[in-house]
Amino acid sequence: LFISLEGVDGVGKSTQAERLRDYLRSLGLDVVLTREPGGTELGTVVRGVLLHGVHRDDGSAAPDISARAEALLYAADRAQHVAQVIRPVLRAGGVVICDRYIDSSLAYQAGGRELTSDDILRLSQWATDGLWPRRTYLLDMDYQASSRRLTGEADRLESAGAAFFERTRQAFLDLARQDSHRIKVVDASASIDEVWAGIKRDVDVLLHE
Ligand code: C5P
Repeated sequence: LFISLEGVDGVGKSTQAERLRDYLRSLGLDVVLTREPGGTELGTVVRGVLLHGVHRDDGSAAPDISARAEALLYAADRAQHVAQVIRPVLRAGGVVICDRYIDSSLAYQAGGRELTSDDILRLSQWATDGLWPRRTYLLDMDYQASSRRLTGEADRLESAGAAFFERTRQAFLDLARQDSHRIKVVDASASIDEVWAGIKRDVDVLLHE
């Protein structure tokens, strides 16, 4: 069973992913919780580049990463992640919970950065050899609210601004409309317990399908 959690920064994906992992483990399932970017050693290096850019020996920043290069870096991270972690776990009969997956690329790189979604889709299909989650929970909330939840220093993406995140959020919602069988939208503005209750209700159904 392969489940992904999606949504813009600050909606509480990681918290819900941990709840889901703990719940499925309590049922006796073998569960691996992982994330993108950064679910492998290669991915950790790529994540550093994506979040903080490239720095020269004197500490100054190299020119910003181009939108296409960025898309390819996410795809490289995902290809390694699928090959090294996700497929082996699924093949062994385990459950994979992934904090972000293909939909993030479709929403951020196509929606946010305005690359073509056909290109991102083809790139992602190739990187994963066509592996899609069985279920995706899209945690959705207003940008005003989600941005307030972000603490600490903003990374390269988090400083992109409200318009970028609004486009990204709408792109996620469009994906959910196009694939409502796989993607379930969860109102992330509710309390942690309420959000979790919504996910649990659906996952219990999924487990008995
Ligand atoms: O969810 P997490 O904090 O790990 O995401 C890392 C950063 O990468 C976030 O700022 C997110 O907005 C960004 N991101 C992105 N495109 C993706 C996945 C993540 O811009 N495909």
